[in-house]
Amino acid sequence: MTKNIDVELIGIQKKFGPNVVVDNFNLQIEQGECISFLGPSGCGKTTTLNMIAGFLEPDQGDLLIKGKRMNGVSSNKRQLGMVFQTYSLFPHMTVFENVAYGLKLRKTPKPEMTKRVNAVLELVKLPHVADRYPKQLSGGQRQRIAIARALVTEPSLLLLDEPLSNLDAKLREELRDELKRLQQEIGVTTIFVTHDQEEALYLSSRIVVLDHGKVEQIGTPWDIYNRPASEFVHTFIGKSNRMQGTVERTGGSTVQLKTDAGFALQADSRDMSFADGEAVSIYVRPEKISISDGTPAAEGSNQVKGTVKSTSFLGAYTECEVEVGPYTIAVRIQTGQQMILFTEGQPVTLVWKPEDVFVFSRKGKGQ
Ligand code: ATP
Repeated sequence: MTKNIDVELIGIQKKFGPNVVVDNFNLQIEQGECISFLGPSGCGKTTTLNMIAGFLEPDQGDLLIKGKRMNGVSSNKRQLGMVFQTYSLFPHMTVFENVAYGLKLRKTPKPEMTKRVNAVLELVKLPHVADRYPKQLSGGQRQRIAIARALVTEPSLLLLDEPLSNLDAKLREELRDELKRLQQEIGVTTIFVTHDQEEALYLSSRIVVLDHGKVEQIGTPWDIYNRPASEFVHTFIGKSNRMQGTVERTGGSTVQLKTDAGFALQADSRDMSFADGEAVSIYVRPEKISISDGTPAAEGSNQVKGTVKSTSFLGAYTECEVEVGPYTIAVRIQTGQQMILFTEGQPVTLVWKPEDVFVFSRKGKGQ
């Protein structure tokens, strides 16, 4: 089956003065996908989105929307819907007028306009606020109206630039669910810019992880989490415990490691290739470690002894910090899974599987 490619970036580059802020960006977005651009502040997410929107021109490369080259084509000819971090509703217009704005510009006949505005207000579950002004709405409602306004023209591409950033945690979660539902219901191809990894994992069919203007990895949320292409991707997505060490021996399905603290660990080799003696960073995520007050580990697992430094109850899980030699290792215990309560100073054993160990070379990193 041939795939319908809605957006294509081919070797896109953008410079501001001497600084390359987007470098050789290549991406194909299929029809109906929700793609996130994820990365720390300043990595080039907004600049890339602005080039797709037509607010900025790339210095190099081609941008295609629905197979047509868009370089030099003005923003209003790109059939886009956009929502930004700030609500950007017109304060002197009612909700109805705000949502109808794009249709009015297109000279849509009044009955058709009314029908479409009402339909999209139903879609965002706010038909009852049509006559209100933006200042009479909550932050979450305003952002729903901004989404309605972006969708009313039935854009071929929806661009969302941190649309949830200004909302408090609870509203943020609600609107995140809402966005996912809307995106799936309408099936509009969507690009979502965020620096929040959880939002990206939750909403996207694929994630583009960016760092310093370069694409670090493009993959499904599962790939990004479980098969990170680099140390940067691994540490940007979720919390992970880092240890330093060297590769003792490679070969077969496992890599034998020795931490700088002197204890041995092993990792599944997957498709990693290391030289014996290579300096590496070794990672394991807190939720992959099991903690006990002495039960021996299953054969083939990593097992280390430590002392509980602190425990914090966080609702869904308890996080224990355990001192293992020079390292402080965080461990997450799901609430309800384990009845033992660990206390400060208690000796414990930590166990984790070789398949849950991530190893990255320190070559060329000066560490
Ligand atoms: P944030 O999450 O903070 O918005 P971002 O990943 O979206 O970050 P961009 O806004 O794309 O990052 O900026 C990328 C880099 O380009 C930054 O170093 C920024 O300072 C720089 N930059 C952005 N716009 C301009 C501009 N108009 N002139 C000069 N430099 C710019």
